[in-house]
Amino acid sequence: MSTILPVAQRGERILTATAAEVARTELNSPWLKELAAAMYATMLERNGVGIAAPQVYVSKRVIIVASRPNSRYPDAPEMDALVMVNPEILEKSELTVLGEEGCLSVSDERGQVARAQMIKLRYLTLDAEVVETSFSGFPARIVQHEVDHLDGVLFIERI
Ligand code: ZN
Repeated sequence: MSTILPVAQRGERILTATAAEVARTELNSPWLKELAAAMYATMLERNGVGIAAPQVYVSKRVIIVASRPNSRYPDAPEMDALVMVNPEILEKSELTVLGEEGCLSVSDERGQVARAQMIKLRYLTLDAEVVETSFSGFPARIVQHEVDHLDGVLFIERI
């Protein structure tokens, strides 16, 4: 069992900070793996489909993207959870789509947010492997929402 962490709520300063890159020397480290495991457990417990490290009071560029149908997002497609370290959005489609978002850090509000329909992305795995890939639709939305957290932006600022 992994630790369930407290989740920062709107208004707390950590959510407006720009998170620091994870250093090469931190990749493959036990603390980074423990952080990812605790983030994952916390996300599942709250029925989230994504989470960013600043939401659990760690101002580092680590996110988890885990689209799956659940009570909060019944139509979400199923995918394996991905831990992304230092994610960088390389390209965004000009086409944007509106979709409903909520956030573990904004308990009382949901809203329609316009996001790029398709993104190209580069990130590191916990084992320091470089991955370049693209996402579209709901998973692309989650990535953009979580990367926003790393830059101190909440979805409510995009409504
Ligand atoms: Zn969020």
